[in-house]
Amino acid sequence: MGFLPVTKEEMSALGWSGADIILVSGDAYVDSPYSGVAVIGQTLAKAGYRVAVLSQPDVGDPDAFRELGEPQLFWGVSPGCVDSMVANYTASGKRRRQDDFTPGGENNRRPDRAAIIYSNAIRAAFKPAKPILLGGVEASLRRISHYDFWSDKVRRPIVCDAKADALSYGMGERAVLAFAEAIKAGRDWKTIPGICYMAGEKNFVPPDGALELPSYAEVSAPTSDGKKAFTKAFQIFSANQDPVTAKCLFQKVDNRYLVHNPPSPPLESDELDAVHDIKWMLDAPPSILRLGAIRTLDTIRFGVTTHRGCYGECRFCAIAVHQGRRIVSRSPESIIGEVRGFLKHSRFKGTVCDVGGPTANMYGFDCSKKAEKGACGNKACLFPSVCPSLKVDHLPQIKLLGSLRSIPGVKHVFVASGIRPDLVAADRACGDRYIDEIAKHHVSGQLKLAPEHVVTRVLEFMGKPGVESLLKFKRKFEAANRRFGKKQFLTYYFIAAHPGCTEADMRELKRFATRELKLNPEQVQIFTPTPLTAATCMYYTGVDPVSGQSAYVARGLGEKTRQKNMLVSSFSR
Ligand code: SF4
Repeated sequence: MGFLPVTKEEMSALGWSGADIILVSGDAYVDSPYSGVAVIGQTLAKAGYRVAVLSQPDVGDPDAFRELGEPQLFWGVSPGCVDSMVANYTASGKRRRQDDFTPGGENNRRPDRAAIIYSNAIRAAFKPAKPILLGGVEASLRRISHYDFWSDKVRRPIVCDAKADALSYGMGERAVLAFAEAIKAGRDWKTIPGICYMAGEKNFVPPDGALELPSYAEVSAPTSDGKKAFTKAFQIFSANQDPVTAKCLFQKVDNRYLVHNPPSPPLESDELDAVHDIKWMLDAPPSILRLGAIRTLDTIRFGVTTHRGCYGECRFCAIAVHQGRRIVSRSPESIIGEVRGFLKHSRFKGTVCDVGGPTANMYGFDCSKKAEKGACGNKACLFPSVCPSLKVDHLPQIKLLGSLRSIPGVKHVFVASGIRPDLVAADRACGDRYIDEIAKHHVSGQLKLAPEHVVTRVLEFMGKPGVESLLKFKRKFEAANRRFGKKQFLTYYFIAAHPGCTEADMRELKRFATRELKLNPEQVQIFTPTPLTAATCMYYTGVDPVSGQSAYVARGLGEKTRQKNMLVSSFSR
């Protein structure tokens, strides 16, 4: 479709005197289906709106937010593809120097708490400003009162702190399109699914059937009752995130109310295909690239997303909170068409660097009960073991990978997204064949697995399966490599200092890695308490909101670092 304009000159070249919608982005704008801002912008553009992007505006320059003028309809604000505090700081609190989403790679363009800073800058530049709609991961994960690790406080919903008009959470195509239509027609947008907003206290009437969360005053009290209220709010929130069954939620915040509408239904397969069938430029506009190279393009440009969502629900992970628990898979035709499109790109040298999603081997199957009646409230799809209702089947992915590698001009097709060994083990019909296919054709030197830990009690706090399927996968993968004469390795990702994990647990993990995996792990991260995950609720309260069990929490940086070092040190203990 061409780039969305990012400068006044580019808007003029399109014959526009102004834009209908301006999207403010904390990441540099790259026109790729991997970028949320690009997906929302191109979806709106396809629907006929004039959309421009203010890419990484300089918040120290009051004129930066006037650069493209004022939009006719509304502002969309997204800090980028991750929360700005996660993007800017490591789990040990150090400022990150490198930023793969900034031209030149220096982390100097995205402010901390970018959603709030950008919204304030818009309001300072335009009085009164057009409506502001927050979106992206930062908005999603901070949509109700939440624990903020970086200030060690419970913060208000971000739509309140940013003084924005509304917030779109989750994958926002439906909600943002409906919001644009309502604003254009002068209609009320407050019932749109997937939207949150603040309502005044006076005459506030909760929507029909809405559930009340404990108030901000209750959940932020630094007492044991406050932490119980926080856990209760989290539990009600979590139980109301399925688009089929969720109820509207509301939460008193000072003298107003947050209203959290039920989630938007996920896109269906053909709708997801339509998003990917857009003629993506797979690059940044020249006016941005002249500021420097954008490293992320090297990894995303020729990668393919096969599906959205995750039914894994690992407690530390925000993907299910943002993308949802239902897997929506694209059709093979659309994916093959996307790869054929790469052949026309001057930079394509024949390598598809990833065919995957949040977890590569969730493509092509889900629980049919979930789509009709909603996800189960009383059990999880993969924990403690794979639910029998989930008809695990790797055949669609095997066939897809085979079709992709047979496209003339395609030399390599890699699976760089993580793989779940428990799903492979649960697939009696095709699991072994899947390992063979991957080992023979689709590994670029290393294959990623994310066991995260191996101690049963810690895995329970993480919502992860035991080690049996991991070891089985390792044996079969190594045997396949021998058969095919390949020298390729498994890379294991681990987390240190997850709630429930002690130094003794890390010693046990170290012993396991040395004896069973025969390696000295390098991919070890200290747990980052991202807002609104179950693990972060545990980190703040010391109680697992799922099981109700108390959890040991390593809080000091010294202990967290010791936990990490126990695993990465080269001595076996
Ligand atoms: S029946 Fe099983 S697979 Fe389906 S939603 Fe419930 S737990 Fe998940």
